[in-house]
This record gives sequence, C-alpha cells and structure tokens, in this order.
Amino acid sequence: NRRIVLAQRPLGGPVPENFRLEKVAVPEPADGQVLLRTVYLSLDPYMRGRMSDAPSYADPVKVDEVMVGGTVSRVEVSRHPDFKTGEWVLAYSGWQDYALSDGTGLTRLGENPQKASHALGILGMPGFTAYMGLLDIGQPEGGETLVVAAATGPVGATVGQIGKLKGCRVVGIAGGSEKCNYAKEVLGFDRCLDHKSADFAQQLGKACPKGIDVYFESVGGKVLDAVLPLLNTKARVPVCGLISHYNATQLPDGPDRLSLLMRTILVKRLKFQGFIIFDDYGHRYDEFAKDMSQWLSTGQIKYREHLVDGLEHAPEAFIGMLDGQNFGKLVVRVNNE
Ligand code: NDP
Repeated sequence: NRRIVLAQRPLGGPVPENFRLEKVAVPEPADGQVLLRTVYLSLDPYMRGRMSDAPSYADPVKVDEVMVGGTVSRVEVSRHPDFKTGEWVLAYSGWQDYALSDGTGLTRLGENPQKASHALGILGMPGFTAYMGLLDIGQPEGGETLVVAAATGPVGATVGQIGKLKGCRVVGIAGGSEKCNYAKEVLGFDRCLDHKSADFAQQLGKACPKGIDVYFESVGGKVLDAVLPLLNTKARVPVCGLISHYNATQLPDGPDRLSLLMRTILVKRLKFQGFIIFDDYGHRYDEFAKDMSQWLSTGQIKYREHLVDGLEHAPEAFIGMLDGQNFGKLVVRVNNE
C-alpha cells in the first residue's frame, strides 16, 4: 500500500521534498466498512491551499498525513451491506492505493461504468463548478461577451462551452498557442489569447470591442488587471479561483490598487461573488448532472483529460499544474482497473 504524505509545508511554490512516498500495510476492513482500491486520483488546484496552514474554508492536511483528494475507486473487500466487491465508487481516498470507508460520502458509479474517470472532471467537481459559477452567478445572456481564464482546464473549458450554448461571444485566456488553438478549434471559442504575450492587455481590449459582461475569474494577478478596465456596467464576476496567487508568500509589490478596484465596482455597479462549489451549491447537483450528461451525449460539450500514470508521479504532476503544465483535467492512474 503506497501513499504520499505531506512531508513539510511549502514556502512559495511546492517542491518534491514537500511530499514523501511511504509503504504501509493494506488496512483490514472492520464490520460495516469497505476496503477501496484507488484507480484514478484527481489532482486539483485547491490542494495547494490544503498544504498551507493559513486560515481557509477547509482544514489543512497535517504534516505526515496523507494528501487529500477525490478518487475513483473499486471496492476490493466489502463488509458493508450496501456495497459489493468489484463495484466502482467516487470516493475521497486521497493520494494512496488503499483506503477504508464506512460508506459515508461514497457515490456509486455501478459495476462497469464507461469513462469512470469523468466523475472526477466533467461529470464531477470541476464541471459542477463551471456550471453553477457561470449560470447562477455569471447569469450570461445571449450576445454578451464572456471572458474565461484558465480556458483549457476542466473548469474554464466547460465555462466557455456552456457560454457558447447560451449564445455568448466567448473569449478565452490560456498559456501558449497550443492551448489557445485548442480553445478555438475544438472548444469553439470565438477568440483565445495567450496571457504570456507581452501585449496581452492590448490584445484583450481588441478582442472585446463591446467590453466584458461576464468575467469568470480563476486566475487573478495580471489577467484581472487586464480585465478590470474592460468590464461593462453591471458586469458579473464569479470569483472561482485565484491560481496566480496560490504560491505567493506576500502581497505583490507596486502601488496599492484596492481603491481603484473599489471605485470600479461602485461606478460600474459590478457584482463580484466568490463561491465554494459543494458548500454553496451541493443541493443543486442533480440539475447539473442532468444537463451535463445530455450535453456530453449529444457532443455539445467536449472534454480533455491529462492522464499521468503512477502514484509516484503525482507530486511532479501537481507542481506542474500550478504552472500550467497540464493540458486538460489532471488525473493520475494509480492502479489498473
Ligand atoms: P486547471 O486545469 O485549469 O489548472 C490550472 C491552470 O491555471 C493551469 O493549467 C494554467 O493554465 C493556469 N494558470 C496557472 N498559473 C497561472 C497564472 N499565473 N496566470 C494565468 N493562468 C495561470 O484547473 P481547474 O480547471 O481544476 O481549476 C481552475 C480554477 O478553478 C482554479 O483557480 C481552481 O482553484 C478553481 N476552482 C474553484 C472551485 C470553487 O469551488 N471555487 C472548485 C474547482 C476549481 P494556462 O497554461 O492556460 O495558464
């Protein structure tokens, strides 16, 4: 039973030494428990927050404890009346081969699910985040301009595609020309701009001649700086993530622009609203699941996965994701099906 624990808290960007691979005995399920074998592990940006002990909406992982994470697992041994051996479940086993569960929080995926790993992405937490953040907070209308950051990740790619289904003009922002071409050619975005270009802010202005009505915020930093002056009166900004700040150890240099932000919010009557998907919208999961299954089956929504083989590669894959090295939903295949 291999597992990856938090060896030490990162200072700035995480490094491989922050993680430790250990081997321990496979645990024995007691009456009322199941032993789960991890097949797929989801790697997500929020895990950077769990590595820190700064106050947040969820408790940090303790040093020497297993890193947390959503998994698609199979029931290896069942001593629970509701679960059968071999069954697939969506679980929260973390970065390890085996985990025990008493069934709390497990979602059944059946005996032979097609594309089981989608439960970690388009049909799971990231897809749900895109759906609720855009539709409930962003309230997009046909003909409006929607700008979406981190445009080829599981959240951003889904936001942009739902925006197209709602009749918006969609402008994506991503790192590099390969990702931008994919956003335009495969996802059907109207434009996609590389945030690493020297003249990114000017390009964004040209790509949004009628201003921005909805900005789906996942990044912060320079991208938000470029978006802010382009927001239209009554624009909506679902604040989903701020990944460019996750590794920061202090506030950025330069003049304090908080008053500029507040003045823009006032004068343009902007709505900025943060959300934490399951805390705020858990009760609306069924709406999402119904619409998304339909869109996937008709091919109206496309989904790309970035699969990494082997639990031992999880730390480097996770570190790379914070820097844009993933191209699609980052999933580790921990064990064979
Ligand atoms: P992604 O697969 O999109 O991975 C993150 C991406 O962020 C990277 O691939 C990179 O893409 C981009 N990025 C990283 N650093 C920067 C930077 N400095 N400037 C611009 N872009 C950067 O992840 P997800 O789709 O899973 O998550 C997207 C966002 O949604 C994250 O901020 C995450 O924290 C948030 N989130 C929030 C939830 C909530 O409940 N509020 C739930 C789920 C996710 P590129 O190469 O294109 O720059």
